[in-house]
Amino acid sequence: MISRRKFVKHSMQAAAGSSLLLSALQSCKQPAAYPATLVGPNARLGHMLRSGKFEEPSEGSNADVLIIGGGIAGLSAARYLKKYTDNFILLELGDETGGNAIAGSNAITAYPWGAHYLPLPGNNDPELIAFLREANVITGYANSLPVYNEYHLCFDPKERLYINNFWQEGITPREGVPEKDRHEIERFLALMHDYKDQRGSDGREAFAIPVALSSQDKKYIALDAISMEQFLAQNGFTSPYLRWYVNYCCADDFGSSLTDTSAWAGIHYFASRKGKAANASSDTVLTWPEGNYWLVKQLRKDLEKYIKTNTLVYAVDATNSGVTVLYFDAAANKTKKITAQAAVLATPQYVNQRLLNPNLKRTLDYSAFQYAPWMVANITLDASLDERKGEKLCWDNVIYGSDSLGYVNATHQQIGFHNSHTVITYYKPLPGRDVKKLREQAYRSTIEDWKNIALQDLRKPHRQIENHIKQFDAWVWGHGMIKPVPGFITGETRAQTSMAIQDKIYFAHSDMSGISIFEEAFYQGHIAIRKILERNLLKV
Ligand SMILES: Cc1cc2nc3c(=O)[nH]c(=O)nc-3n(C[C@H](O)[C@H](O)[C@H](O)COP(=O)(O)OP(=O)(O)OC[C@H]3O[C@@H](n4cnc5c(N)ncnc54)[C@H](O)[C@@H]3O)c2cc1C
Repeated sequence: MISRRKFVKHSMQAAAGSSLLLSALQSCKQPAAYPATLVGPNARLGHMLRSGKFEEPSEGSNADVLIIGGGIAGLSAARYLKKYTDNFILLELGDETGGNAIAGSNAITAYPWGAHYLPLPGNNDPELIAFLREANVITGYANSLPVYNEYHLCFDPKERLYINNFWQEGITPREGVPEKDRHEIERFLALMHDYKDQRGSDGREAFAIPVALSSQDKKYIALDAISMEQFLAQNGFTSPYLRWYVNYCCADDFGSSLTDTSAWAGIHYFASRKGKAANASSDTVLTWPEGNYWLVKQLRKDLEKYIKTNTLVYAVDATNSGVTVLYFDAAANKTKKITAQAAVLATPQYVNQRLLNPNLKRTLDYSAFQYAPWMVANITLDASLDERKGEKLCWDNVIYGSDSLGYVNATHQQIGFHNSHTVITYYKPLPGRDVKKLREQAYRSTIEDWKNIALQDLRKPHRQIENHIKQFDAWVWGHGMIKPVPGFITGETRAQTSMAIQDKIYFAHSDMSGISIFEEAFYQGHIAIRKILERNLLKV
């Protein structure tokens, strides 16, 4: 096996070689025209759901369980269910499964279109650990700690921040930051560290992932009523550097900002991740060139025969004997019907409200579910980005003061021969309270608009970037991530929406957690199946 040190050495050599090349290129190249495209999910099928016009189904079939939606939650449900029955179907609207964790590729590398990393998980979800062992991400144990496969741990150098015209190591602002602000940042991080070790009066961890296992102690739950901004103010944190950093962290996990993230959710970012490894520091992440799509491929490996893609579910109802589900099979251009003993809706709530028969009397305020829109751009370059002072190109590259997340280098995890070409994945959440307006604006924006937004930001550290772009592709996620706005996670709507209907229709999506991350989606998926098993709905 190649050691981590060798990986690192190799990356450094490649980076050094490409920066020399870049200096040479800068002196002679002029910006050239390059192809730019706007890509995105299957808009035609999505539109059909909104129009609601479908013919009577012409064919029928049945199954023990039907899973709707093939994102992480749906795939996790399917993986777990397969242990108990062979008679189930997963219907997915897209050309393939993966949901927000899908990826693309070109001649240089695979790259993510959405989710790109998984922090080292703690021990709260044994099923997640079991899956990581199946996928050989965890290869064994040493001194009771998991040993992670070196190929999947983020190689060094991990992250850098462009601040005061310098690339510093790590993303907590430090370079050129006044003493008083540094102290405030340290005080904040110490407070978050304290939260990590705290337990509530119920004996549970104060902040845990999955969040369902976090303490319900009122002392902590009360933090859901205030925003992260209020939390900072109440604790005397005023440093603009700290505020930017915490805002960045809210955007990273939730696509939201200081003002519209609940403090309870925001503190989870810092205090809930307690994973440890025998062969890596606990702040290491698991990542792949194609991001979490690698995990998608592992999840669906043995599930292909149960999955039907390009199928739009448009109606779900409960009957005396189970459920009926109607769907449009785009390949056959036909509507079809499935009857099952139970259905799992691994679809977001803005979709569910259109699927469920109104007779099911589920009068919920779906407007409580707010989704942050995102734009993700994959930018192909003919040289590696290294031209400014400080830390070399990292896996994660963040720009201080920006409201983007910066970019991830998709070739960072490549092993073997590196050429100077690369693809960077630029992440831009669209924060703000009026998500509907933001979404409409995002859908109206052209590829030129997105190029301008991304390049204006990227030119700050990389003045010459346009000389090196070979291709610019962007993807707009209208409903990218559920926003944990104050009051949402502890609110009635989320609790009621999670409850099964007539013990037949179950819900599993990261929405149900109020936090859109891999661990939550995975948890929601297998928990929904466990509930079905507990109700003895399957003859196993
Ligand atoms: C830009 C971006 C970056 C992210 N980065 C990270 C990250 O780095 N790490 C991380 O952990 N998380 C990240 N996330 C969060 C990510 O959303 C979750 O990790 C996870 O992938 C969510 O899975 P899910 O199954 O809950 O939902 P989804 O991915 O939303 O899956 C729902 C599925 O249902 C399907 N569907 C919808 N309607 C229908 C219908 N009517 N019929 C049939 N199928 C239907 C959809 O096509 C989709 O496949 C990111 C999200 C975005 C948008």
